[in-house]
Amino acid sequence: MDHFDYKNGILSAEDVAISEIAEAVGTPFYCYSTATIERHYQVFAEALEGLPATICYAVKANSNLAVIKTLADKGAGADVVSSGELMRALKAGVPAKKIVFSGVGKTRDELAHALKEDILQINIESEPELHVLNEVAGEMGKKAEVAFRINPDIDAHTHDKISTGRSEDKFGIEWTRIHDVITRASKLPHIKIAGLAIHIGSQLTELQPFRDAFIRLRDIVAILRADGHAMTRLDLGGGLGIPYDDARTPSPADYGKVVKEVLGDLDCDLLFEPGRLIVGNAGILVTKVVYVKEGATRRFLILDAAMNDLMRPSLYDAKHNIVAVIEPNEGANLERVDVVGPVCETGDTFATELDLPAAEAGDLLAIRSAGAYGAVMASTYNSRDLIPEVLVKKGAYSIIRERIAAETMLSYENLPNWES
Ligand SMILES: *Cc1c(COP(=O)(O)O)cnc(C)c1O
Repeated sequence: MDHFDYKNGILSAEDVAISEIAEAVGTPFYCYSTATIERHYQVFAEALEGLPATICYAVKANSNLAVIKTLADKGAGADVVSSGELMRALKAGVPAKKIVFSGVGKTRDELAHALKEDILQINIESEPELHVLNEVAGEMGKKAEVAFRINPDIDAHTHDKISTGRSEDKFGIEWTRIHDVITRASKLPHIKIAGLAIHIGSQLTELQPFRDAFIRLRDIVAILRADGHAMTRLDLGGGLGIPYDDARTPSPADYGKVVKEVLGDLDCDLLFEPGRLIVGNAGILVTKVVYVKEGATRRFLILDAAMNDLMRPSLYDAKHNIVAVIEPNEGANLERVDVVGPVCETGDTFATELDLPAAEAGDLLAIRSAGAYGAVMASTYNSRDLIPEVLVKKGAYSIIRERIAAETMLSYENLPNWES
């Protein structure tokens, strides 16, 4: 459920008409709804009631400070994957002791940053990383609290590019080696082992892969405990999918049931790292039709938004619902169109052969479910602006990131002043 509905014939975010924001900030722009973010967080939290759970919002899904703060105010922690994200989480008010640092390639500097801030846990993804962390912690006179991310070799049945739990994926430590690795790690002087972590992929639309991964985790915990390792904390990652094109996805409540069934009696603190589930449907990308072009075999709606603003369709073949901002009349004529951006790549396509109410140049459209992996993945390809982000709360809106214009970007470039 989200808070983007037609009110008085105009698509609105909560109580603010999208056309009003478009007028003020110009298109394209991202628009998020506070009530939707809060509701998704609440629904997920309720699904985990009765479990010793901490929800560490995966900041990479949408790392705008105001978005993180909205969640921090509700009690969320954060899962970060870079020093930059760690800075954001802290600045947005997430307590250090609710921050987890994930990622396969954390540098010495990033590990030192995490130790300096005394965050809850660093997730270790390889033995070389473990040894570097032990060294860095030693230099700083600290003990690093870690969880070991296991690669359970389980196929999440999601898009290839966001599947992370198969043996051929770069993530985590092979589950069959974890016992050896932890045995050796337990002898390192500057490492404190809290437990295990897992994250098998993103946009999962079935519960079975979660269940299989949790069962594997449970078995490993039993083996490690039998060997004298305490295992007090399990980080279950994120990955629960959202309905992009009216598809059915598992409910957080059903996901919570699987967690309780498989891991509920292990007496471990549990961490969760949802990203997409919290913010995906809480954002839209608002864009204007620049031209309607009659091609030889297709009619094209050419937008002022492009693949550099929202990469998901070109990167993951993602399908996003697209709707008119001005509510179409009932029984309005549908036209079959391809919805494309202006960038010089055929991959710059948001939808093909879509039936939309007839649109004209100047009409506003909203690309839905663009709150996660949208603005954060934007680039300046084709020397286009980084577009504004707007957050709505009830009847008010705020520009939570200004447009970063091409002129500003140009000011960072220098012509070399060669000697000869
Ligand atoms: C990306 C990521 C997440 C969040 O995934 P969602 O599919 O957005 O829930 C959580 N944990 C880790 C380690 C990740 O890499």
